[in-house]
Amino acid sequence: MSPLVASTIAQDEPSGLAPTDIWSEDYSNEIFPWAPESDRDRQFKEYHTYETTKALMLQLEQENPDIFEFHEGLLGGVNARGETVTADTYEGWYYGYSSPWMKITGDVQDGEYNEFVGDNGNYADRHDVMIVGNHHAREWMSYTVALMQLEVIAFSYNNIGYDNDGDGLVDEDPWGDSNNDGILDDDGDCLALATTPTNYQDSNGDGTNCGPGDLGVDEDYSEQFITDLINTREIYLIPMLNVDGNIYDREVFCPAPAWESCPSGGWRKNLRNNGPDPLPDFNEQVDEDCDGVDLNRNYQYEWGAPLGATVPLIPGTCTPSEDERAGITNNDVYTGPFDTQDNDGDGFLNEDNVDGEDDDNDGRTDEDWAGGNSEPETRFIQDLTEMNDDVGNGASEFKSTLTHHSYSELILYPWGHCTGCETTDHDQLVYHGDKLAEMTDYTNMQSSDLYPTTGDFCDWHYGVHGSYCYTSEIGTAFHQHEDDIDHIAVRNLGTGFYMAEIADNPRERADLGIANISQNQFIQMPDMVNVPSTGSIPVDMCVANGFAYSLDQSVSHVMYRTVQPTRLQSDYGPKEWSTTEWSMAPFEETSSICDLLNGENGTVIRSNLPVPDTVSGQVHYKAMLGTLGGGDLYLYPANGEYYVLEVDYRADYGTLFGALFMFFLVTSFVWGGLAICLRMMLVDENEKEFAEALLEDGN
Ligand SMILES: [Zn+2]
Repeated sequence: MSPLVASTIAQDEPSGLAPTDIWSEDYSNEIFPWAPESDRDRQFKEYHTYETTKALMLQLEQENPDIFEFHEGLLGGVNARGETVTADTYEGWYYGYSSPWMKITGDVQDGEYNEFVGDNGNYADRHDVMIVGNHHAREWMSYTVALMQLEVIAFSYNNIGYDNDGDGLVDEDPWGDSNNDGILDDDGDCLALATTPTNYQDSNGDGTNCGPGDLGVDEDYSEQFITDLINTREIYLIPMLNVDGNIYDREVFCPAPAWESCPSGGWRKNLRNNGPDPLPDFNEQVDEDCDGVDLNRNYQYEWGAPLGATVPLIPGTCTPSEDERAGITNNDVYTGPFDTQDNDGDGFLNEDNVDGEDDDNDGRTDEDWAGGNSEPETRFIQDLTEMNDDVGNGASEFKSTLTHHSYSELILYPWGHCTGCETTDHDQLVYHGDKLAEMTDYTNMQSSDLYPTTGDFCDWHYGVHGSYCYTSEIGTAFHQHEDDIDHIAVRNLGTGFYMAEIADNPRERADLGIANISQNQFIQMPDMVNVPSTGSIPVDMCVANGFAYSLDQSVSHVMYRTVQPTRLQSDYGPKEWSTTEWSMAPFEETSSICDLLNGENGTVIRSNLPVPDTVSGQVHYKAMLGTLGGGDLYLYPANGEYYVLEVDYRADYGTLFGALFMFFLVTSFVWGGLAICLRMMLVDENEKEFAEALLEDGN
């Protein structure tokens, strides 16, 4: 057998490989390389508690003092609203702990010291990103993913070129589809695994072969990338915001194992005691009836706006109404109480809610809020955001923010508080959301399209501070079974790094990305257009999957006009040409796929130009494609140019015969018409060259 044959067989039959044929034993069993010897079998096979979370963070700080600084809550002082607050402002109502968090940046002990926040490592030229887990107590994967990111940072920083999977290659498969071929498994190692008799390509059992979270997918990211990120960003990582709720959920509400005691529910809120009235609360303790505030309904932006699905009908109350009280024993989305303070001291109450508008026309905006940020945990986020001002401009440093939740396998972007509405950064938010969705194989959507909310983290961060904010809904259960911790954490590991990466200028990065995508799209050139023997002329565009284009005719359409000789039968050629006005034809979606200019798969959208069969001459056409948010318009071809399609008289003739007829007709009058007539008969390049050669001979 020749070597050529052997290699052909090897390429055709790559199956049969088991994980350990390619990778190290540890990698194949998801034993993470940074796991201490004593913890090898438990690392991401079991959940952390509050106590072990804090212990882990302290240990990582001790081992990596150059990049980690551990904190709990804030020190306090006079905050951005002029309130004097102390460290105990941020302590949970019930168990009394402040949220643990890690400040992460290179040379964290240098830089400026912030005496309100209490952190070092504040650099005016480093971009800040906030990543928060566990707003909701029972959503255990939401803090687990944040802890994995912390451990990966500790292990990867200055550990350049580490071979994560033990296959002898380094940095060969970063997060997402780095080489833009539409396949996440950039190095093809997962795809080389056997599918029978054991399907190793679906190691996480989610039904998708070689998707995120499977062995061999995005498994060997660049340690240099992580190191550079840590040296140019300040990451504020808050894995477990709702410590009170988490302890209560674990120890009281859902006795271990939680996935058996609370297979579908669990404790969601914090532990504010809402008292004995108006609901039965005989012990005045934490209970299942009403106590607690939903922290992700307690931020101030459009707080309490009554919108249906997941907010109480009466904001600031614990249950929807008297009538419904009997039926509803646990209001999981209590927004927290109404604010009863005259925040601006003008004698009026709640006259200027936080919505970005000057409701009372006093020249100040949002100065007397109706409610929200009433809880220790949300006040912590508020003051960390408003008091971490490295450059002293009074604006938030957090241009990008990420909050992990579970579950539903979704990526959500603002708005949450209104339906049928869009932010002014809609296209850009969609763009980054698509990237996050690509690396997780989750679905990207506007938050309110899932269900409307009020007072959530992302509406506040975007609405008040302009931060590009995403909610990731991780996994498939609140208390995900512990067998699933490792591969779900791996699947979601990249999102926190992506948000840190774009923290310098998320909008500009999105604009560049969208423009780059738009350049791989195209409308058919004239020689690709098939002119039917009768009826409308279809012109196709190849658009990128994930490019959020609009089908609204006012922004997405083909403009076309016809140019015809008015005196075709005259003596020596048509001297007078008649040009019609530009007309507009809409696009419609098709299910056909096409190749974009960069080789990726795209989708065909089609515009049927209603050109009469009697037209004989030219059809000029050009396309405009508007994005879904209407923010960007792209022209094909670029710069106001248009394509020229030569069309013959189609009425009464088949295409070929008509063309031949035209050929003879026009050649008998004018040489200049020859190219026109030849081109419409000849479609492929060879024939066109032949035709051009003919023309030259004729001259
Ligand atoms: Zn949640």
